[in-house]
Amino acid sequence: MTLSEIFEQHGFRLTKPRQQIFDILKNSEIPLTVGDIAKNYKNINRTSIYRTLIIFDRLKIINTIYIGWKNYYELAEPFIPHHHHLYCINCQNAEPIQPKELEKLVDYIGKKYNFIVTKHHFELEGICEKCRHIIEE
Ligand SMILES: [Zn+2]
Ligand SMILES: [Zn+2]
Ligand SMILES: [Zn+2]
Repeated sequence: MTLSEIFEQHGFRLTKPRQQIFDILKNSEIPLTVGDIAKNYKNINRTSIYRTLIIFDRLKIINTIYIGWKNYYELAEPFIPHHHHLYCINCQNAEPIQPKELEKLVDYIGKKYNFIVTKHHFELEGICEKCRHIIEE
């Protein structure tokens, strides 16, 4: 399903700013904060960005990722494949990972507790390979 179809189905108007924020998220390889989005989009105030993100969240277009004290946003499935992150606290890169073991574990825990899992969050924070020298020196 395309973005405009999703909007149409829920009776929302796909305005230009909404399309623009979607494109910024789509073109980014890492999750973005509201500040990051604002940097990529001149002439928009943060309130409009927040409002758009609330709608995106309600329509399940984005996922919110909590790293440290910040909220990061990225597109949800089906726009990008399901994944998790290795977040480097030094260079702040968020490497996408798709560990099958984790998905199996989520499945297992759901079954074990007779619980229907609709969503799960899993992010690792640490030091990436490129930044390892900062702790080894
Ligand atoms: Zn790093
Ligand atoms: Zn991601
Ligand atoms: Zn997962």
